[in-house]
Amino acid sequence: MELRIAGLIRESVVDGPGIRSVVFAQGCPRSCPGCHNPEALDPSGGRVVEDREILAVLEKNKLLRGVTFSGGEPFMQAEAFAQLGKQIKEKGLDIMTYTGYTWEELLHMGKKNRKVMELLSISDYLVDGPFVETEKDLNLAFRGSRNQRVIDVRKSLRKRDVILARFS
Ligand code: SF4
Repeated sequence: MELRIAGLIRESVVDGPGIRSVVFAQGCPRSCPGCHNPEALDPSGGRVVEDREILAVLEKNKLLRGVTFSGGEPFMQAEAFAQLGKQIKEKGLDIMTYTGYTWEELLHMGKKNRKVMELLSISDYLVDGPFVETEKDLNLAFRGSRNQRVIDVRKSLRKRDVILARFS
């Protein structure tokens, strides 16, 4: 399946726990002041790749703990990222997904769009909400502003409440 991406980082230690690859979705409906990745906002920009091309890159790195979906807005391409995510999980890697939507907005959207729920459900961790420049804090782990949360998706779906992720 095709995805439109802004880029791919093969190895990162700042975009989630452990050593990770990062796939940047191209296209975002927002334009948050201070956005860390403004070139990823145009939904017709970036480049189109097949998911198997991304999987081939990931397979070369045996040190990866997981893969992070960043952006841009991965939920604008929920079906494609969910499908890629499923294949990544089959390889034993975890998924962290960044989104400008809040957890509550995604659950609401997911009632009408099951692809949104699929992408949410295959994510182990969700960093939710847009970047807010006035809430910016450089000391936060894996998030840029205080309004964002790093959510443990599986526990939150089970408990029907937001459970923040803890990393040991
Ligand atoms: S939601 Fe994220 S990618 Fe989209 S404009 Fe805001 S900071 Fe940028």
